[in-house]
Amino acid sequence: GWQHRFPATAYAMMCTRPLLDWVVRDAILAGGRIEVEHGAEAVELAGDRSRVTGVRVRDAGGGEPRLLEADLVVDATGRASRLGHWLAALGLPAVEQDVVDAGIGYATRMFKAPEGTHGNFPAVQVAADPLTRQPGRFGVVYPQEGGRWLVTLTSTRGAPLPTDEDEFTGYAKVLRHSIVSDLMSVAEPISPIFQSHSGANRRMYPERMPQWPEGLLILGDSLAAFNPVHGHG
Ligand SMILES: Cc1cc2nc3c(=O)[nH]c(=O)nc-3n(C[C@H](O)[C@H](O)[C@H](O)COP(=O)(O)OP(=O)(O)OC[C@H]3O[C@@H](n4cnc5c(N)ncnc54)[C@H](O)[C@@H]3O)c2cc1C
Repeated sequence: GWQHRFPATAYAMMCTRPLLDWVVRDAILAGGRIEVEHGAEAVELAGDRSRVTGVRVRDAGGGEPRLLEADLVVDATGRASRLGHWLAALGLPAVEQDVVDAGIGYATRMFKAPEGTHGNFPAVQVAADPLTRQPGRFGVVYPQEGGRWLVTLTSTRGAPLPTDEDEFTGYAKVLRHSIVSDLMSVAEPISPIFQSHSGANRRMYPERMPQWPEGLLILGDSLAAFNPVHGHG
């Protein structure tokens, strides 16, 4: 069934990932104490199984990796962290981890919002019905900076994600309410459709390792990444 209507008590600020990254980066660099290695990719840990002494990085232009020495290395490379491989290269065993995967997938497309909707347009969400015993399908329209709407259509395992324009439009129409489809019909698509299947819950247990090298920390999604439905980031 449907929930009764009640006065809004939650307030969300929505923006694209590049804007969020930019604002955070700007604020951090304003302090003047941090130096960024632009375009550098971490490829390997330096040190041995008892102590990490730095990280080898490769520059965007290619070439041989160079060593950045460090007293403390923090792996914050996110869900796709290669830390397990890096620890194995130091001779350490695999880190235990739990993975719980609901098979969630996202198909996302950016739209130009119609005139007159900029400003306080609300976030729109149509949730799946957990009682149907069918794969879950849900959809959202999230206003973004620059007069744009981010439309994301989501499925759990067994409901194939839309890949092209016709499928995207059709998928929005079979949600439990037509509002996502109605809003899409008055907006102009301005991006391709992007798919993401990186929604599994994964937690690593470094504390269960028989030995952990000094000078190494793990943070954020590298350590524990959850189903995006939980908005855990
Ligand atoms: C589809 C989706 C939707 C989500 N929606 C929400 C939401 O609505 N609300 C919410 O709170 N959370 C959400 N999350 C979760 C949130 O995005 C993450 O929890 C959060 O971004 C984790 O931050 P992080 O800094 O640990 O990793 P990340 O944000 O993944 O940052 C890791 C960074 O490391 C860089 N990197 C990776 N490898 C290397 C390397 N070898 N060398 C150098 N740099 C490297 C990457 O380019 C990236 O910039 C969502 C996640 C997904 C997948």
